[in-house]
Amino acid sequence: MAKITVEALHKSFGDFVAVKSSSFTIEDGEFFCLLGPSGCGKTTTLRMIAGLELPTSGRIFLGEQDVTFKRAALRDIAFVFQFFALYPHLSVRQNIAFPLKSQGMPRSEIRERVGEVARILRISHLLDKRASSLSSGDRQRVALGRAIVRRPKAFLMDEPLGALDAEMRHVMTGELRALHDRLAATSIYVTHDQLEAMSMADKIAVMNRGIVEQLGSPREVYDRPSSLFVADFIGSPPMNFLSLGEGIAEGADKIRLANGHVDAPRILEGGVREGDLVLGIRPEHLQFVDEGALRGVVFGVEYLGSAQIVTLTTPHGVVRARAPADRRISVGERLGLELRTDRLSLFEKSTGRALALARNGGAAHG
Ligand code: ATP
Repeated sequence: MAKITVEALHKSFGDFVAVKSSSFTIEDGEFFCLLGPSGCGKTTTLRMIAGLELPTSGRIFLGEQDVTFKRAALRDIAFVFQFFALYPHLSVRQNIAFPLKSQGMPRSEIRERVGEVARILRISHLLDKRASSLSSGDRQRVALGRAIVRRPKAFLMDEPLGALDAEMRHVMTGELRALHDRLAATSIYVTHDQLEAMSMADKIAVMNRGIVEQLGSPREVYDRPSSLFVADFIGSPPMNFLSLGEGIAEGADKIRLANGHVDAPRILEGGVREGDLVLGIRPEHLQFVDEGALRGVVFGVEYLGSAQIVTLTTPHGVVRARAPADRRISVGERLGLELRTDRLSLFEKSTGRALALARNGGAAHG
């Protein structure tokens, strides 16, 4: 397996820039997710790493080797596509063996490798079945088997579970991560599904309009989003954004809200203009209280079984809060909210970037 390094990777299609000067390193054995909305440049980035697309500029290293201009076939990387075309009339065994046969590997070795891969993927009982007779989940396992049987240096996967239904996707994300851990393979996984990325990745690159907005562990991108875009894209429901208008602070250490104030975290950098701040708080970091610094009227309640998502209109805009499942909450009810001030984020509205904060806890005051 190998480390993959991408340096200032850039791709234009005519005047359109699909990937803008992206740099990141995927450590040996890491599960790395490229995450972002449709059209943000994930697939283009992956195709350049695979050697299926040439970059306009920048460099790609596989281990210490510069592979930027090396043909895909010579990169020793396996690519798993969403609609992986299996040969329907061939058996599972023949499908998995196919890449080894094309390499001219001796029969006995092929038999051994296919057997091993089938055991890892728990599809030994399917080896003699035709690919066309399999369920979608099993077909995806065979597709994975065909990729891993070559023992490549890295695996690249482009929305490989996109064609599966929600339940099977859930099963396969668990299986994929377990498979990754067993093979200790360097893997790059493209998805627009933040839950998929959060549940599988060691590291996530959140992309937006061709730019890597943030690189970090699932915990980092969730707890410390680097921009309004990341804060909005990660989390379901996403982070709440409260526009602070002109009344930012009472002194330097309070943020004034419509019905009270909260202790402000110390901003570690200067130069923020008054009125240019947005306060971010996740739904689970709001607590229902009688009074609270933020008050609103309930206009929606989504019962999720394990919790409820309550939507309120407040003087600072629409806010969503997570409430315990057993609390009775009715539409039209007026409720107070307390903010966990150790979990606040602050963003500069004009640029969308998050401000670096010194965090020391504290409570909100009504
Ligand atoms: P999706 O999940 O929808 O595939 P993505 O993040 O993978 O999204 P890309 O497929 O990398 O996005 O595409 C990024 C942008 O580049 C898109 O706007 C797309 O239309 C454009 N693009 C991709 N390939 C080409 C091409 N060969 N010629 C022109 N534009 C292209």
